[in-house]
Amino acid sequence: MRLFGCVCGQFHTTADAMGMKAGAARIAAPVPFYVIDHPDGVALFDCGLHADVGNADDPYRQALQSQGQDVTFGPEDIVARHLERLDIDPGRVRWIVLSHLHFDHAGGLHQVPNATLVVQKKEWEAGADRETAARYFLPRRYFDLGHQVLQVEGEHDLFGDASVVTIPSFGHTPGHQSLRVKNAQGDHILVGDACYTCEAAETRNFPDFADHAAMNRSLDGLLARREADTVMVFGHDPGQWGEKPVLPSMRH
Ligand SMILES: [Zn+2]
Repeated sequence: MRLFGCVCGQFHTTADAMGMKAGAARIAAPVPFYVIDHPDGVALFDCGLHADVGNADDPYRQALQSQGQDVTFGPEDIVARHLERLDIDPGRVRWIVLSHLHFDHAGGLHQVPNATLVVQKKEWEAGADRETAARYFLPRRYFDLGHQVLQVEGEHDLFGDASVVTIPSFGHTPGHQSLRVKNAQGDHILVGDACYTCEAAETRNFPDFADHAAMNRSLDGLLARREADTVMVFGHDPGQWGEKPVLPSMRH
């Protein structure tokens, strides 16, 4: 089994928005997703941005720009191209574990049509509830595309061999979850947006829309699971995807 990390474009925002110490300084923050090539099937953890969001006339992108943010990516950065570079046909991806239903995590679903989504029940219910979905920015048009959905509650051992296990980490959104992946490469906790960056784990500067008390509890819980060799991979940390990416991205 192999674990890969792929970057589907960059957010352009302030350091403060990512919980980092540099305040109003502008930063570019990566939008990662992960590929798990397991003998029993391929699983993704999240799937990046919708292919159209990079276009200048995309309404979601324009809404971001109106708030002083932006997102950029090229045709090579979308999920389908990353999978092709890994010799994986997007049509044969078996599972997509979604950390949550935000546009930068569920946006790529339209490129992976045959997968079954693995989502916390609380998150799926939040997405279906008009009021909650509006409060937490869960855009239905990106995630409600007719995929099979496996709603899980609590931890879920994806392949039944303890190698890939979901960990609920509520707070960023009502049913956010993280993913622990253990294999010969090591022990990785894919934190997702339970914490955007390494610095945010210290500052505890979380986004306004989130439930901060729940985020603190969830993050404490994730940090307590660390063992000596555990690598925490944060949701949008510029330092983890620069010159030396925290995970390999290509087989060749
Ligand atoms: Zn995110």
